[in-house]
Amino acid sequence: MTLPYAEPLTVIAPAQLVVPEPPRRGEEGGEPCFPCSDHSDDNLIWSDDIWTLHSPGQTALPGSVWLASRAHFDSFADMPPDVAATFGAVCGRVELAVLALGDVGRVHLYRWGDGGAHFHVWFVPRPLGRLDMSGAHLMAWEDAMPAATEEQIAEAGRRISAAM
Ligand SMILES: [Zn+2]
Repeated sequence: MTLPYAEPLTVIAPAQLVVPEPPRRGEEGGEPCFPCSDHSDDNLIWSDDIWTLHSPGQTALPGSVWLASRAHFDSFADMPPDVAATFGAVCGRVELAVLALGDVGRVHLYRWGDGGAHFHVWFVPRPLGRLDMSGAHLMAWEDAMPAATEEQIAEAGRRISAAM
């Protein structure tokens, strides 16, 4: 596991604390909630009664997708029981669909939640054989690599949709 930068890296001090934190998208006083908006189907690649699966607008790792609940809630702490009951199974289906793209070593699942207050998780494929991109540094590599084309992202979305 390595970073995509040459040594020596230098440590910087953390920024000043921001407390209280500003509202996130979908919180009172924040920007509108995207999954609850009329535009949320623009990048939709699959859905059922509980979940929606979306392609990202931009990524260096085609096959990256984000899964959102249809219901608006924030996190696991306030996830409705009927949603929680299907979470593991739908994650397994998405993982298999991303693996089916081929040349995928692992599918990483991320839940950050810093940007939006509507429950969503990311699935990000680590390219097969890219052991240097293992673990937490994958997103640093994603940030440093050239962006995929819109067609590459759309094609991955079509194939994942078909595999769901
Ligand atoms: Zn929402």
